[in-house]
Amino acid sequence: MSKGTILIVEDQQGFRRIYHDVLENDGYEVLEAQDGQEGWEMVQSHKPHLVLLDLGLPKMDGFEVLKRIRENPDTKHIPVIIFSVLGEQKDVKKGLEMGANDYTVKGFYTPRQILSKIKNLMTQVEVKKSVNSYKLRIHDQADDAPLLQNEIGLTQGYHCPH
Ligand code: CA
Repeated sequence: MSKGTILIVEDQQGFRRIYHDVLENDGYEVLEAQDGQEGWEMVQSHKPHLVLLDLGLPKMDGFEVLKRIRENPDTKHIPVIIFSVLGEQKDVKKGLEMGANDYTVKGFYTPRQILSKIKNLMTQVEVKKSVNSYKLRIHDQADDAPLLQNEIGLTQGYHCPH
């Protein structure tokens, strides 16, 4: 079973291939976009669990893609890791201020290090989700307490006919 879907938005085929292979070998489903326009369209149509986003992209740059992801209610929760170029700290700062969750430096971080960043982010999202669903369950149970007691009574009756 897939661990989740990750979209790589990157115009250099070599980089896409490296990350694609590493992620796929680790059990993720991988999608690729070659420019910002295609990336933004795929974010909307596929709702990936995480986006790896290059900043320097044809047609629409990574900042614009990030801005759209964060402005859209359907996509604003999706974790984004930006690819930056070594020495471009101001790009990283801008990206993080715009709502990117983390960053990597191209050609500097190994694919394994990036994988561990991805795992951390995906775990954080999972924890948040399970806390939310726990809250929801408690809420439901408070509303349906008499109904729940009934169900338990019925279940017990079913298992112990005497
Ligand atoms: Ca690029």
